[in-house]
Amino acid sequence: MDCRHLDDFYELYVLGAADPDIAVEISRHLDNGCACCTSRLREAALNVYLVSTLVPSSRPGPKTRARLLSRLKKK
Ligand SMILES: [Zn+2]
Repeated sequence: MDCRHLDDFYELYVLGAADPDIAVEISRHLDNGCACCTSRLREAALNVYLVSTLVPSSRPGPKTRARLLSRLKKK
């Protein structure tokens, strides 16, 4: 089964935001036990989870980040 054309859509699929045609195709692959799609989807789910934890409500700007990093290096 060729799944390369689905590569860009696993994250969207996890978020429920994929094109309906694509979503149907991915779920068909999963139903067929497609190893490629299963592992890619697991990766995508992890990515989506990580991104959601990495985006704080108030994002520190690059200056804050640099200050934090230099402070850490001094120790
Ligand atoms: Zn597949």
